[in-house]
This record gives sequence, structure tokens and C-alpha cells, in this order.
Amino acid sequence: MESWSNDGASLPSGHDAKKRQVTYFYEPSIGDYYYGQHHAMKPHRICMAHNLIIHYSLHHSMEINCPFPASPADIRRFHSDDYVNFLSSVSPSTLHDHTYYRHLKRFNIGEDCPIFEGLFSFCQASVGGSLGAAVKLNRQDANIAINWAGGLHHAKKSEASGFCYVNDIVLGILELLKVHRRVLYVDIDVHHGDGVEEAFYTTDRVMTVSFHKFGDFFPGTGHIKDIGFGNGKYYALNVPLNDGMDDDSFRGLFRPILRKVMEVYQPDAVVLQCGADSLAGDRLGGFNLSVRGHADCLRYLRSFNVPLMVLGGGGYTIRNVARCWCYETAVAVGVEPDNKLPYNEYYEYFGPDYTLHIEPSNVENLNSARDLEKIRNMLLEQLSRLPHAPSVPFQTTPQITEVPEEAEEDMDKKPKPRIWNGEDCESDADEEERP
Ligand SMILES: [Zn+2]
Repeated sequence: MESWSNDGASLPSGHDAKKRQVTYFYEPSIGDYYYGQHHAMKPHRICMAHNLIIHYSLHHSMEINCPFPASPADIRRFHSDDYVNFLSSVSPSTLHDHTYYRHLKRFNIGEDCPIFEGLFSFCQASVGGSLGAAVKLNRQDANIAINWAGGLHHAKKSEASGFCYVNDIVLGILELLKVHRRVLYVDIDVHHGDGVEEAFYTTDRVMTVSFHKFGDFFPGTGHIKDIGFGNGKYYALNVPLNDGMDDDSFRGLFRPILRKVMEVYQPDAVVLQCGADSLAGDRLGGFNLSVRGHADCLRYLRSFNVPLMVLGGGGYTIRNVARCWCYETAVAVGVEPDNKLPYNEYYEYFGPDYTLHIEPSNVENLNSARDLEKIRNMLLEQLSRLPHAPSVPFQTTPQITEVPEEAEEDMDKKPKPRIWNGEDCESDADEEERP
């Protein structure tokens, strides 16, 4: 297990370098699923990230697992029967049959969430990885469990949304709750983590914290004043941001807020959704984070040494998604990889510089120091209202409470702009295709 200082990966100094037992889930066929030529979501990015991870020899520093596909019964622990029945039986060739066609609108199937070949197997692999990760953490077989095919945070109980069909995160957290009293969910995707927030909006057993772009942007939820409901009041935290968020601005919010969250909530496990569409130059996002700035969130949460599940999410400039998730895998195992990329199967994607790290762009940061300070103070104030480490009643089979009607009405008032319109991107749709 000590063979990980070769291939350009060396051990950095400092307390972050402490070794953690890391387990990693990867389904070798995951990159073959295809949403369609003009669709921004490319599962191939997970295969590219994995390829980099192997060529940096990071696999010698962690346990590698192929996930068991999640069963329909596993998926029904959150999703409704009729939605799971639909997803598990529909195919592109039967899509227009009367049996299926009449359900498309109800389940929000369409341009953003198309029916593609193997859709359900794709969902089973994504969920299988997150459930496997939760089981490893529950058994204390690992300190950190990674599933880059997970993190699909927009999926709802009976509805697909924002390229997500099945919410592996909610299912993974439900598994963690069998053993852990309190689970903290942190989301650094550029989009609000609405599906996870909604699922746990009325419970204090899960605290959700989402950093996202807000204002005329998908999914439209995640206002700073949305703080949870009933027993869940103050256990949802939203950090609404504008375009141009850079490393310093992000860190200046993330670290103080998470320090306070860890202090007052004292979670028994943490789930970090590492959506990479918050990186500079993303095809859909508007933030300006470097890979290092993005990974600083993982580095910080890792330093608390609480069982940690690390998941993927969005990310639409796929060469940068692969860079980011490879670097974050290195941070998880505690090595600092060489900036010069090793030769790999997708080497041509990474030109002209062939480096692991990316430079942020010179776009304007539309978040002023004053705005950021105001947000930080509001959220720290909200956190100060929490009782320290709430002694939640322990249930082995936690129940998901429905979002109460008044809270739902509130959500209905918010705009629901689409995450992406195929036509907008037509011109550069093939930019990320393999040359
Ligand atoms: Zn996203």
C-alpha cells in the first residue's frame, strides 16, 4: 500500500497528509451511457476521470469496487412505485407507446431528461455506488468513500429533473441514517441541491448546505431564507451566489460556515456533492473556481476526520470535470499529484497545456466583498440558533416526511427555468466529443 509515491504523486507535508482509508466505486461501463449527441450531460467524463486516476496510480492508495446495481426495491426507498416501474421498463423504442407516452409529462421526461438506451441500468449503477459507499462507511471499512457516478441531486420522488432521474444522494443518506444519528450534506455544484433539500426539509437528522448560483437560474430554488420546516427548521442552509465566484470568495464563505456547522451540528457522517459545473469555464455554470479552489472544500471537510462520502454531480466541460475529480481523489487519499498529466487514453482532450490544474478566467466576480460578508453573517447568525448537536430520536428505519403543503406552495411560486436548452448550445455541441 506504500507504492503511491511513484508516477508523479508525492506525499505533501502538513496535517492534511494524514492517511485515510479510502474506498472508491466505479462501474466500467458507466462511460458508455449516452444521453444524446446534443445533450450537455456526458457520462463519459466519469470514465475520463477514472482513466486519469489510474494513470496517476491513485488506485494503489485505495480500495477499488465495482458497485452492485441497485435493485428496484432499493430505489423505492425514496422514489414512488409508479415512477420506478416506469423507469425500469421504458426504452427509446417503447417511449411512444400509449402505456408510456401518457406518463412523460408527469415524470418530466423530455429534452433535459430524455429516455436513452440503458437508462435504468445507468441509474442502478449510480445508486449502487452511493449505497455501496454508505455501507462501507456504516461498517467502518473506510473513512472516505467515493462515487463519481453519484451526486444526481435534482431527482425528485416521482419526477426526473435537471439530467437526474434517481436521487442516489437521498438513497445513500437514508442508508447512512441506519447507523449515524446526524448526517451533514454539503453541495458545491453550481446548481441548488433541491432534490436532497426537499427530501430532508422537515427533519433535523439531515442538515443540508448548498452553495449555488441564484437568480434566473435552474432550478430557481435555494433562497437564503429557505431554512427548513417543522423539526427541520434551521437544518437547511442556502448560500445564494452570483456569477464569477472565485477561489478566495468561495473559501471565505465555505470555511467559516462549515466550521460553524461542524461545531454546532456535530454530524456523525458527511456527504459532499462535488458537482464540477462550479469550475471556471464550465459550459453551463458561471462560477470561476480553479480545480484547487474546488478541491479545497473536500480538503477542509476531510480535515474533521468524520466519515465522508464524496460524490460527483454536474460538470459540462468534461476535460475539466476529469481533472477536478482526479485531483479530488488525490486529495482524498492524501497525495499531491504532479501538475504534468501522465499520458492517458484521452490525452488529446487536455491540450494545449496537458496539465492537471486550470487557470481561472478573467470574468468579473459579481459577488462584492460586501455581499459576501452579508451572506456569511446572516448564515452564521442562523447557525447560532441551532441547539448544539441535537439529540434526535434514533430510528433504524428513518421516514422521509412529505414537504408540507405550505412549504410546497412556496416552492411553486419560484421560477422553474430549464437547466439547459439544446438549441442554445447547438454550435458547440460537439466541442467535447472525442476527436
Ligand atoms: Zn449542476
